[in-house]
Amino acid sequence: MRITTLTLSLLLAAPRSTASPPPPIDAVPAQKVAPNTWVIHGPMGHPSAENRAFINNPAFLQTADGVVVVDPGSSVQIGAMVLQQIRLQTDRPVIAVLNTHVHGDHWLGNDAIRRAYPDVPIYAHPRMIAEVTQGAGERWVEMLNGITENAIEGTQVAAPTHPVDNGDELTLGGMQFRFHHNGQAHTATDLMIEVPGEDLLFTGDNANNGRIVRMDDGNFEGNIEALDIALALQRKIVVPGHGQSGGSEVIAGYRDYLTGLYQSVAELFEQGLSDFEMKDQVEQRLQLFSDWTGYQEELGKHISLAYLQIEAAAF
Ligand SMILES: [Zn+2]
Repeated sequence: MRITTLTLSLLLAAPRSTASPPPPIDAVPAQKVAPNTWVIHGPMGHPSAENRAFINNPAFLQTADGVVVVDPGSSVQIGAMVLQQIRLQTDRPVIAVLNTHVHGDHWLGNDAIRRAYPDVPIYAHPRMIAEVTQGAGERWVEMLNGITENAIEGTQVAAPTHPVDNGDELTLGGMQFRFHHNGQAHTATDLMIEVPGEDLLFTGDNANNGRIVRMDDGNFEGNIEALDIALALQRKIVVPGHGQSGGSEVIAGYRDYLTGLYQSVAELFEQGLSDFEMKDQVEQRLQLFSDWTGYQEELGKHISLAYLQIEAAAF
C-alpha cells in the first residue's frame, strides 16, 4: 500500500489504544512442566537486538475458568507470542496475570494481555505497584529500547492493579496460589508463587538456572533467606526467573552461588582486603559457576555490592 498523506494522518490520528499491536516475536514453543502448567523458556543472555529482549520464562496455567499468566515477558511483542502459545492449548480467556517483580524483562508483556483482555486483574507485590506508579515501567521501556535497537517499540506500561503480599492466597478458577515475600531479596518487590495443586514453585529471579542476574536492587542475605524459604516448601517442580525449570536443585544451585560469593567476600573483608583486591581469590572459589551466563558481567559488581552490604552490617 502506498502511504498517502491522508492515510498517514489517519494513522497518526488513531488513538493508541485501538492501533493494531506490533507483530509478535518468533514463537518459542511452550513446554508442559506440570499437568496444567506450561513454561516458555526464554533464550539465555542479556537483552539484545537479536533476542528482542526476550530472556525470561513466561508461563501459563489452565484453570477451570480460564488461563492464569505469570510474567509475560519484556514487551507487547513477547506478550503477543505468549498469547499465541496459550491459543495452541486452549480457547479459554485469560482470567489473571501474576508478576514476580519490578524488573521490566518480566512484566512489560502485560501490555499484550491487557490489550486482549482490558479488565484482566494483574497481581503483584504492593511495593512493585508503588514503584511502577513512580515511573519504573517507563524507565524500563526506555532502557530496553536503548539496548535492543527499539525491539520493544510500541510497548505501553500496563501496571499491576491488585496487591498481594507474603502469606496471601488466591483461588483463581479453582486453582490455589500462595505468595511468599521476605523483604529485600533479588529486589524489594519479589513474590515467589507456590501452586500446591501442581506441586510447583515460581521463584522469580530469586533463583536462576545457569544464569547470574543483576543484584543492583538486591540484598545477598535477603536473597539467600528467600531461597531457604523456597527450599523448605519442598515443591517438586521449580520454575526459575531465567534458565531451565527443574527440581529443588535449581534453588540449591543458585543458593550455592550466592552463599559462596557472600561468604568469600566476608572472609576476605575480615582479612582487610578491598573489593578489587579480592576479585581473583573470589573468582577462584567460584570456578564452578564460571560458565553461567552473566558471570563475567556480574561477578565484579556482585563482589562490590556484597562488600558494601558486609561493610554496612559490620558497623
Ligand atoms: Zn530481575
